[in-house]
Amino acid sequence: METIYFDNNATTPMDDRVFEILVRSFQLGLKNPASQHELGRQSRKQLEATRRRIEGLLGCDQQGSKEDSAVFTSGGTEANNLALLGICASFLPRGRLIISAIEHPSVTMAAEVLAKDGWDLQIINTLSNGKIDLNHLGSLLNDETRLVSVMLANNETGVIQPIADVVALCKNHGTLVHTDAVQAVGKMPVDFQLLGVDALSLSAHKIHGPVGVGALLIKSGCPVTPVLHGGFQQNGLRPGTEACPLPIAFSKTLELYLDHQEANISQLLDLQQQLENGVFGLFPAAVVVGQKSQRLPQTSCISFPGVDRQALMMALDVAGVCCSTGSACASGSSEPSPVLVAMGLSEDVTEGAIRFSLSIFNTPKEVGAVIEILSEILPLLSV
Ligand code: PLP
Repeated sequence: METIYFDNNATTPMDDRVFEILVRSFQLGLKNPASQHELGRQSRKQLEATRRRIEGLLGCDQQGSKEDSAVFTSGGTEANNLALLGICASFLPRGRLIISAIEHPSVTMAAEVLAKDGWDLQIINTLSNGKIDLNHLGSLLNDETRLVSVMLANNETGVIQPIADVVALCKNHGTLVHTDAVQAVGKMPVDFQLLGVDALSLSAHKIHGPVGVGALLIKSGCPVTPVLHGGFQQNGLRPGTEACPLPIAFSKTLELYLDHQEANISQLLDLQQQLENGVFGLFPAAVVVGQKSQRLPQTSCISFPGVDRQALMMALDVAGVCCSTGSACASGSSEPSPVLVAMGLSEDVTEGAIRFSLSIFNTPKEVGAVIEILSEILPLLSV
């Protein structure tokens, strides 16, 4: 039995070409880029060229004295923590912090830490189509609001959020905006300057890069206070010896996937359509969560009302299909997904929802096989 991997929003398989670069970079034996000798200087040069390349690929402003910058982190979680904790720590007195109800736990939990520290944390309501409620955001914003964090696209439903509108609303109050673009990069156009946000989080392992590296893009002038302490690396914003091969491999994966983005999106859309049409053919009562909204092409959150999601996920697992019942960071929990609950979906929809997340390494044959497996499993699980 061959395993079919439809859990790419949790992590993607590394692209062989990226793996090759990663191994070659390790073999090169790059030295500590903070060392002052020739070998250290060579590593520094390579690391800084990589940083510039990533900034360029993602549309950072690299002109003149007001340059945006990329700070390398261990991944999306750390980038989100640096954004929330680091930006908020730059403000005294504390003020209001606004996040949406559908953020990844790395945003939600960092915000809760800030709330315990005296920040006035407010949560934006979610509409039943999976988008944030902009009217509610408008009513929450005040002149004490220091930061708003809204993800670019949701990891569970794939619903793309109206970031341009968020930025426009926040500008009226001089409020900074952070967006978590971890799931969006490579699956929709992402241009830091065009988005107009002040900080943006990334992670390499969601687009066929290595796990253990991500970045926070920071707009020139956006205040960020370090969260970690202990060195001058990365302008003191993220101290610790830089693992040069990881950003180098990250840069390669961005090059590969941004260069072929349109073709990849089109391939993913075909697979998404095949999967969702196949499911509706089998189970007409199925609900594709956020179906009427603009969604990422690799994500289908499908509910089978009357079917228990845990039982379905386990039955699929036994049949060799990997998918999930929500964010990998929240898995293990038997509670329904907070994202679907925030959308106000009925209990039979939240209880029966499974996330299939595909990648360009998946094939129409695999989608056909999953539909076939579902056709055998669903009649056994339906009440
Ligand atoms: N943000 C979103 C939207 C995610 O989906 C994830 C991972 O699932 C993260 C952040 C965390 O990224 P990482 O696994 O690189 O820490």
